[in-house]
Amino acid sequence: MSYVDTYLHDVDRRHPRAAAAVGAGALYALEPGQGFLAHREAGNVIHTYVVLSRPVEWFTRAALTRERVAAEFTGWAPELVALIAGSDTPPVLRSIHQLLDRHRWARTPGVTLLGDAAHVTVPGGEGANLAMLDGGELGQAIAADPGTALATYEERMFARAESEAVAARETIELIFGAGAPRGLVSLLNG
Ligand SMILES: Cc1cc2nc3c(=O)[nH]c(=O)nc-3n(C[C@H](O)[C@H](O)[C@H](O)COP(=O)(O)OP(=O)(O)OC[C@H]3O[C@@H](n4cnc5c(N)ncnc54)[C@H](O)[C@@H]3O)c2cc1C
Repeated sequence: MSYVDTYLHDVDRRHPRAAAAVGAGALYALEPGQGFLAHREAGNVIHTYVVLSRPVEWFTRAALTRERVAAEFTGWAPELVALIAGSDTPPVLRSIHQLLDRHRWARTPGVTLLGDAAHVTVPGGEGANLAMLDGGELGQAIAADPGTALATYEERMFARAESEAVAARETIELIFGAGAPRGLVSLLNG
């Protein structure tokens, strides 16, 4: 799965139907393996991640143009297709990288990793929180006992990262998998 980043500027005037579809908050429009995640940003801007599950060759064998990405959404509502076809910026590929759920390393004196460097995974919505929590806990461990700090930190971080990676994959499967868009509807309805 990859995200393609696009922006519509001056959206209320230039793309009123797309603006109305996204509304004041965020919009998800999904079918299995592809769709739009769009949200309104300050300054009359809509920022969209166009989600596409395609082999890596699809993204690399030809230029990633608005037209080529929009063609993947033939037959979708025009106000949604406008999120890519009308982009004011060239589409930018945001590849999704992931480590193994259970990613660990042998203790190396004086060195550790935190945040995405330690446990990058599919975008389940917690990556920034986890990176900050890692930093906070590492700081506390160093303050408590510099001699054992890195081992203490890694023990907690490894366990947390593994369970969060599993949860992120489950969330992504729910949102973009074969049951889309019903999985997200179930998630929002609790
Ligand atoms: C498209 C996308 C959407 C996302 N959405 C969300 C979301 O909604 N919620 C959420 O919680 N998370 C989200 N994430 C994940 C989140 O962005 C990351 O988990 C988080 O940024 C990780 O923080 P970090 O500090 O570990 O790494 P980063 O934010 O990647 O910071 C690493 C920094 O190190 C710098 N750097 C790299 N190499 C060097 C070098 N050699 N020397 C000096 N500096 C270097 C980089 O330039 C970068 O600034 C998303 C990620 C992506 C890609």
